[in-house]
Amino acid sequence: MRQSKMFLKSRKEVPADEVTKNATLLIKAGFVYKEMPGVYAYLPMGIKVIEKIKKIAREEMNAVGGNELIMTILQRKELWQKTDRWNDKNVDVWFKTKLKNDTEVGLAWSHEEPITEMMTQYVSSYRDLPLYVYQFQNKLRNELRSKSGIMRGREFIMKDLYSYTKSQEEHEIFYNQMIQAYLKFYKRVGVGDETFVVAASGGAFTKNISHEFQTITDAGEDIIFVDRKSMTGVNSEVIEDENALAKSGLQKENLEQVKTSEVGNIFSFGSEKSEKLELYFTDSDGQKKPVILGSYGIGITRIMGVLVEKFADEKGLVWPKEVSPFAVHLVSLHKEKGDAVYTEAENIYNELQKENIEILFDDRDGSAGVKLNDADLFGITLQIVVGEKGLANGEIEIKNRKTGEVVKVPKVQIYATIKELWQKAF
Ligand code: ATP
Ligand code: MG
Repeated sequence: MRQSKMFLKSRKEVPADEVTKNATLLIKAGFVYKEMPGVYAYLPMGIKVIEKIKKIAREEMNAVGGNELIMTILQRKELWQKTDRWNDKNVDVWFKTKLKNDTEVGLAWSHEEPITEMMTQYVSSYRDLPLYVYQFQNKLRNELRSKSGIMRGREFIMKDLYSYTKSQEEHEIFYNQMIQAYLKFYKRVGVGDETFVVAASGGAFTKNISHEFQTITDAGEDIIFVDRKSMTGVNSEVIEDENALAKSGLQKENLEQVKTSEVGNIFSFGSEKSEKLELYFTDSDGQKKPVILGSYGIGITRIMGVLVEKFADEKGLVWPKEVSPFAVHLVSLHKEKGDAVYTEAENIYNELQKENIEILFDDRDGSAGVKLNDADLFGITLQIVVGEKGLANGEIEIKNRKTGEVVKVPKVQIYATIKELWQKAF
C-alpha cells in the first residue's frame, strides 16, 4: 500500500474532552475519529488492526466448530419481554427506538434472545445439536459513563458466540474448550501473559456460572486479585468471603491486587432462557427437552484499546506483530520523487510485495522528521528506512519498533533479515 494513496493522516490536536491514552494516541495517529463521547469511527489503519484481531478470533472460533453469521441490530421488544430483559430496570443500557407505525424496537446491546428465538426455527431434534454460532457485531449500549476511550464505547464491536447443546454435560465440555480457545486468542493478540481467568457472578445475565477474562492495565475499570502461577484470579467480593475464597482453591498470600480490563466474558445459561423462548428438542430417547445455552463474548474494540494502553510508548503506538496493521513500514527519505533514494525504496517495495509481505510504503514527499515521527506513531512492527547516508554505504536500516533495535544490512539481505526479525518480534 502506498501511503500517498491511503486515507491516513496524523493529527496534532485531539478533542479537548478526550482524556484517555488509548483514544488520544489512536486519534493522533489517524486510526480513529471521535464522533462524540463513547462513539468512535474507525479509519483505514484502525480497521486494519480490528480485522487482524477479528481474524484471530475467527480462527479460534472456527477451530472449536463455530459457524459465523450476522444477526440484526434492530430487535423485537416481545423477545426481550419473554425473558424480562426489555425493562430498563433490568437492563440499564438499552437504546430503544420506534418504527414509523409506532412499533417499539430495541437496538442490539446483546443478542441472546433474538438468536435463541431464531433457533426455534432450525432446531427440533437431537440431530440438530450441538450447534455453535458466532458473529462480529456492533453493539449499542447507553453507557452512563464513557471515560475509557474505545475501551468503553456506546457503540463497539463484540465477538459473540452462542452454544446450543443437548445436556449440561455436553455444555460443560464445550464451555471448557471455549476457555482454552479464549486463552489462545489472548495469547495471539499479545496479552497472554497478563490475562487471567476469573470466576464471577453473571450480573445482568444469569445466576449460573460465568467467567471473566481480565487483562492487567492501569486504564482498566476493575480491580481483581490474581495468582500468577495458575493465571486465575478472584474479584473483591470473593476475597472478602472466606468460604468463597476457599472454594476458589487460591491462597490469599499468593494473590496480588491488580487493575484490569474485562476483555471477555462467558456464561452458562442452563435451560432457563430456552424454556422462556421455547427452544426445545426431541432427544434420542424420544423426550422433549430444553436446549442448554451458553454465551461467549470478546470485546474486539476494547482489546484494541487495551493493546494501546499496555504497549504504546512516548513515541506512539506499538502493535504486537499478529495485530500490526502492516508487517513492515518502508520509509523513503527522498528529496524528490525519482531521485536515487526514492528509486531504491520503490525497488524494495516491489521486491517485498512479491514476497507477500504486508507493506506500507511511505512514498510521500516531505521532511525526514515528519516521516520518521509518523512511522513511530503508527507503531508498525518493523520499519525499513531508506536514506541518502545508508545508500552511500550500501546499507538499509531495519528497525524493530518495540525495542528500537536497528540493524543495517546490504540490500540483498533485506528479505532474510526481515524474516528473522519478524520471528523475534513480539
Ligand atoms: P463491563 O462489565 O465492562 O460493562 P459487560 O460485562 O457488560 O462489560 P458483556 O456483556 O459481558 O460486558 O460483553 C462482552 C465483552 O464485551 C466484555 O467482556 C467486554 O470485553 C466487551 N464490552 C462490554 N461493554 C463494552 C463497551 N461499552 N465498550 C467496549 N467493549 C465492551
Ligand atoms: Mg461482563
